[in-house]
Amino acid sequence: MLDILVIVLFSKQIGRWAEKKGYKRGMYQGLVIGAWFTGEILGLIAGIFLLADMGEDAIYLAIFPALLGAGAGIMTMVFVVKALPFRAFPAATGPIPAAAEPVRAPREQAPVEPWTCPNCGYHNTYKDTYCFNCKKEKLSAPG
Ligand SMILES: [Zn+2]
Repeated sequence: MLDILVIVLFSKQIGRWAEKKGYKRGMYQGLVIGAWFTGEILGLIAGIFLLADMGEDAIYLAIFPALLGAGAGIMTMVFVVKALPFRAFPAATGPIPAAAEPVRAPREQAPVEPWTCPNCGYHNTYKDTYCFNCKKEKLSAPG
């Protein structure tokens, strides 16, 4: 009856994985048990066919391919559940948060108009912060 324990343990674990991904646990537990028995029966049939000409006693060895088939069924379910895409829980669905604004480099300071020095009347370019002629500092106030 060890196999029953193994089925229970696997079906519980696989059911948990399925539930974590947003699927119904019970359904996947059922699938695990189904996969186990399907694999076991297929393995048993294959074993009986392969061992048929080895005599009547050899038929009992078919238990090994049967267990192999059952194991393969379980492993198939493990891979299936592991490969399942994550599904959002109904409670978790809601407005999808807007994508974050792409980070833009701060624009460079727009060039300032060319300015006339209030001290000497020299026409300075926008780049100059001091008067090219008299070295007086450019005033922020217009004039
Ligand atoms: Zn000046």
